[in-house]
Amino acid sequence: MAKIAVLERKCTGCGLCASNCPFGAIDMKDGRPELNAACKVCGICVKNCPEKAIIKLETKVDSVDKSKWRDILVFAEVSGGRLHPVSLELIGKAKELAAPIGFHVKAVLLGEKVDAFAQELRHYGVSQVAVYDSPELSFFRADAYAACVEDYIQFAHPSVVLVGATSLGRSLAPRLATRFHTGLTADCTKLELRENTDLVQIRPAFGGNIMAQIVTTHTRPQFATVRYKVMNTPERSETAAGEILSRPLPKAAAASRVTPVSITPVPPKKSISDAEILVVGGRGLQKEADLELVKELARLLGGDWAVSRPLVEKGWAGNERQIGLSGRTVRPRLIITCGVSGAIQFTACMNGSDHIVSINTDPDAPIFQVAHVAIVGDLYEILPRLIRQLKEEQK
Ligand SMILES: Cc1cc2nc3c(=O)[nH]c(=O)nc-3n(C[C@H](O)[C@H](O)[C@H](O)COP(=O)(O)OP(=O)(O)OC[C@H]3O[C@@H](n4cnc5c(N)ncnc54)[C@H](O)[C@@H]3O)c2cc1C
Repeated sequence: MAKIAVLERKCTGCGLCASNCPFGAIDMKDGRPELNAACKVCGICVKNCPEKAIIKLETKVDSVDKSKWRDILVFAEVSGGRLHPVSLELIGKAKELAAPIGFHVKAVLLGEKVDAFAQELRHYGVSQVAVYDSPELSFFRADAYAACVEDYIQFAHPSVVLVGATSLGRSLAPRLATRFHTGLTADCTKLELRENTDLVQIRPAFGGNIMAQIVTTHTRPQFATVRYKVMNTPERSETAAGEILSRPLPKAAAASRVTPVSITPVPPKKSISDAEILVVGGRGLQKEADLELVKELARLLGGDWAVSRPLVEKGWAGNERQIGLSGRTVRPRLIITCGVSGAIQFTACMNGSDHIVSINTDPDAPIFQVAHVAIVGDLYEILPRLIRQLKEEQK
C-alpha cells in the first residue's frame, strides 16, 4: 500500500504538481498542494516536482501465510428443493483452476435432508463434501448459513471460496468475506489462478468499458461470486468419488436471530437463462407490436424470447427478459439477435452461446464480432421470411 505525502518545508507552492496531475487529484489551497480523493498514487507528481517536495510512502501490509490456505471450496446451493446448477458450473471451473497447482476441490452443502445432494456432488470430482444437515437450515437464514460456512472455512482453510451469484449467494458471500476481513469480487466473468495461489478475479467494470482484474494479495480466503451460465457445466462421472464429512451445527447457527413467521414458496419461473434457443429483439425494432415477430420466430423454433435493455426501458418487456450486465446471463445452444448493436454490456452476457446468429443493417455493428453467422440486412425483411419458411416446413 502506498500514499503520497507533501514535504511542506521543501514545497515552494509552484503548482506544477496540480497542473500535471492527470486525475485532478491535487488542489492548491493557500498556495500549498492538497491531495483529494481522486489520487491514484500514480507518482507523476513525485517525478515532476522540481523541489523533490512530494514523496511516495510505502506502507508495509502484513500478509497471511498463503501456504496455510489450500484448495478451492465451492458453496453448493440448495434452493427450492434442488441443487442449483450454478454450483456444478463452479465445481467445473474450480477443477480447471485447481489441477495445475495441485489443489483439491471441496464443496460445502447446507440444508435439511440433503444427503442425496451430497451423494450427487461426489459424481463431479470433489475430494470432500462437508455437510451441515439440520432442520435449522431448512430454509435460508443468512446468519445461520454464514455461521456454518465460516465454521467449515475455519476448519478447512480453503484458499478460494466460490459462491453462485444467486439471491442467496449474494447475501451469503459478503457476510463471509466480512467475517474473514478479506476481499470479495462479485459477478466475475472469468477466473484464473496464479502459481502463488492468488486468484485473478476478472469482471467488467466502469459500465463494462474495461475488464478489471482484481487480486486479493494479502488475505485469505479469496471470495468470488459467479453468475449462473457463465461457466461450463462439467461432465457427470458414473463413478462417485470423494468423502462426505458430516459437520455438527455450530452453536452460532443454532442461535439464529431469524424466526420464520410463514413460508410461501415462490412458484418456479421459467428463466431466459435456461432457454436452449433464444430470439432477441433490440432497438432496431421500431414499435412494440413488432416484438411479435421476435416472439413468433421463438415460438416456431421451440425457444424463448429476450430483449436488450432499451426495450425494457421502453416498457416493452420486463427486466427478467433482459440480457446483459444489468439483466441475465444466457448460454443457449442457439441465439438469434435482431436489431441489437452488440454493446459490451450485452455481449458479455451472451457470448458463451454455442451458435450466435445476428441480424443487423449495419455491417460494422459490434455484434458481428461475436456472431458465428452475420446477416447484414433488415430484420423487417428477414424475420417474416424465416417465419414463413418455418411455417411451411411445419405444415
Ligand atoms: C452500466 C450499464 C449497464 C448496462 N446493462 C445493459 C444490459 O444489461 N443489457 C443491455 O442490452 N444493455 C445494457 N446497457 C446498455 C448498452 O450499453 C447499450 O446501450 C444497449 O445494449 C443497446 O441496445 P441495442 O443494441 O438494442 O440498441 P442500439 O445500440 O441502439 O442498436 C440498435 C441496432 O439495431 C440496428 N438496426 C436498426 N434498424 C434495423 C433493422 N431494420 N434491421 C436490422 N437491424 C437494425 C442498428 O444498426 C443498431 O446496430 C448498459 C449500459 C450501462 C452503462
